[in-house]
Formats: sequence, C-alpha cells, structure tokens
Amino acid sequence: MELRDRLALLADAAKYDVSCSSSGSRRGRQAGGIGNAHYAGICHSWAADGRCISLLKILMTNSCIYDCEYCVNRRSHDTPRAMLSVEEIVHVTMAFYRRNYIEGLFLSSGIIRSPDYTSELLLRTARLLREREKFGGYIHMKAIPGTDPKILEELGRYVDRMSVNMELPSESSLKLLAPQKSRSAILSPMKFIRDRLQENREERRRSRKVPAFVPAGQTTQLIVGASGESDRQILHLTEALYQRASLKRVYYSAYVPVMQGKHLPVIARPPLLRENRLYQADWLLRFYQFTADELLPPSSPDFDPELDPKACWAMRHRELFPVEVNRAPYEMLLRIPGIGRRSAWRILNFRRYGDLSMDSLQRTGLVWKRARHFLTVRGRYYGSGDTLSLRTELVSEKAGQALREMSLFEGQV
Ligand code: SF4
Repeated sequence: MELRDRLALLADAAKYDVSCSSSGSRRGRQAGGIGNAHYAGICHSWAADGRCISLLKILMTNSCIYDCEYCVNRRSHDTPRAMLSVEEIVHVTMAFYRRNYIEGLFLSSGIIRSPDYTSELLLRTARLLREREKFGGYIHMKAIPGTDPKILEELGRYVDRMSVNMELPSESSLKLLAPQKSRSAILSPMKFIRDRLQENREERRRSRKVPAFVPAGQTTQLIVGASGESDRQILHLTEALYQRASLKRVYYSAYVPVMQGKHLPVIARPPLLRENRLYQADWLLRFYQFTADELLPPSSPDFDPELDPKACWAMRHRELFPVEVNRAPYEMLLRIPGIGRRSAWRILNFRRYGDLSMDSLQRTGLVWKRARHFLTVRGRYYGSGDTLSLRTELVSEKAGQALREMSLFEGQV
C-alpha cells in the first residue's frame, strides 16, 4: 500500500481515540531546532463535538494481537491492515509540520508482538523526532498497558503527554469485552507515570537541568455506553482517577456502534448527550468543588437528559436557595446555576466596594435568566419559587440548546 493510503487508513483508525487535547506544556524552540509547544494548547482547531483536530493523529499500526470486542482494530475483525515504519512517521510529522498543517503529533498503536515491542517502536519514533530532527513541537503518545516501566521512563522524557486508555469503566466489563486486558494492567502504568511525575517535580525543584518527565501530564479515555455502567459509576471512577492517579484529564467517548459483538449493546446512534453530561459533570468536579456523590447520589444513578448536572443539583437542593448574592461565599456562588467561575470572582470584586445592585450584577456576566431563580439581590427575589414551573422553564431553555448541540454532533459521526 502507498504511504498516502496507509496514512489515510491509520488516521481514520485513530479517530475513535479522544484522549488528546490541548498540550498544557510549554517549550521554546532550541537553537537549530524546529517547533515549539505552548501552554495555551497547540491544538488550535476543534471539531464541533470538542475533539481536537489539529494534531497529526495516527496509529502506527491498526494490527493488534488483542481482540477487544468494541474495537475496529481487534484481531478478529476483517479489515485492511497497515503499518507505518518509525522513519515514515518521523518523515510525515516533519513534512506536515514544515508545511504548517499540524503543530504536533498524537501517536497511538495497536499492539504488535507484545506491549514492549510496540512501545519500543513508539520510543524510537519520539527519540528520532527530538534528537535527530530537533523537533520541539507537541508529542502525545500512548503508554501501552503491560509495557516495561524502563521503556515508559525513557519515553516520558521525550513526550509531552502520555495516556493510558482505561476504555471500560469496570473490571467486569473488561473481562467481558476486552478479556486480554485487566484493570491492574491498566492502572499500573498510570501509577508509574503519577509517581515519576511527582519525583520529577522534586528533582527539577533541586535542579532545572533534570529533563522534564511528561510535562503535560497523563490523560485517559472512557468509552460510554459500550457496557452497562451507570453515569454514577463512571463519575465516581473519574473522581478517583483525578484524586488518586493525578490525571490531567479524563475524556469520554460515546460508544460508536460500528462493530457487532455478542456482548455489545444494540444501539442506533452513539449516546452523545450522555457523553456531554459527563463532560459537564467532569468540569464541575475539577473547577466547581462538586463531588461525584453530590452530582449523582445513589437515588439518581444517571444524569437527567433534560437538565444539566448543576441545575439538577440545585433543583434537588431547593432548601439552600435563594442565596443573597451580596453575602454568599465564593463556594456557594459557584453552585448557583447561571454563575460561572468568572462571574463569581467578579461578584466578589464588586462586593469590595459595597453591595451589588441589579445593574452591577448584570455586568458580572452571569446568565440572569437562570441565576435569578436561585438568588436574591439586596433581599429581593426575581425568580420563580414554584419547583414545577422552574423545572419547566429550565428544561425548555436547555432542551433547545441540547437539541442544537445534538444536531451539530450528529453531523460529525
Ligand atoms: S488493544 Fe487497543 S487496538 Fe487492540 S483491540 Fe484492544 S482497543 Fe483495539
């Protein structure tokens, strides 16, 4: 197969992996080198569903010795196979970079021969890019479960980010759909990267000459809807991954029913709204001080398709509202639907000079249509106190938005 055809095949095979995003690392161009990475993210383009599209995102090979039931690259799937050599990947990356097509490389792979063998090839690619080609752009590579930590250690010195894809949220789903994988084999490289990141931070505090290890941290991907876990189970797993494995990001990928398998659900289309709700809740975990239990208590194991998670939480806790916007602490302001982090900070800033009026409140950038139901301004309430009509109002407003989002998504799949 010609290089161009293999590239097309391997880029298409990589599209199901969503665990890449903005870089989060910064590196200036070295003398005689080419390319640089920025905190702001080198992935300047995003698909409508939020997926990054400006990295050269390919698989080294779509051959695989494993047989994960949901995967188009599984061993038993009758599909054309291709592979790019290390030199070809290096050549294509540099050529695309010079032509300004891309700003970095996201390289994943099916497993050939063994995890160590495959990871050695990834390592050689990263080493050639950094050392021979002096490539300073962003590199994100897969850490393949089962790889010798020594290889990961070396790989981590060349790449900006690594991801170990968890894919399925529970051990029982792994057994069913990906029998060659196990939770411990997936968690072990994650823990290794976490520990090395901490050590590296200490080492670099003592001496800046120590090379950085995976400076943009690690991420993972969870497939949503290929197995029977509830949203609550997935969100609890996410919370544990952020807290215990120090992950930078957890990505969610709505299961795309392209494969048939006796253990796979029969669905007409990917559960994109569910994926979207998980991203919203993930944001609340990371930046709004919510816990998984608050967002999805045992009595509500799945997200409300009609209401976003924050509005849902507020509706379940009507006893806490309305709050006086001139007295509420930052943490409580964050919990008001329609108030984001920026508007909460602006409210605090305004308050340094006296009580906010309606006029100054509007200037904080909050979404008044939503927020007015959950707050008072100088003791006056402007919302609807009736739970049923409030829900109807929030739903009709959000339903229109969700519908618009879904029509955008459906064009992408
Ligand atoms: S190991 Fe990865 S590439 Fe191979 S079948 Fe499983 S999910 Fe697909």
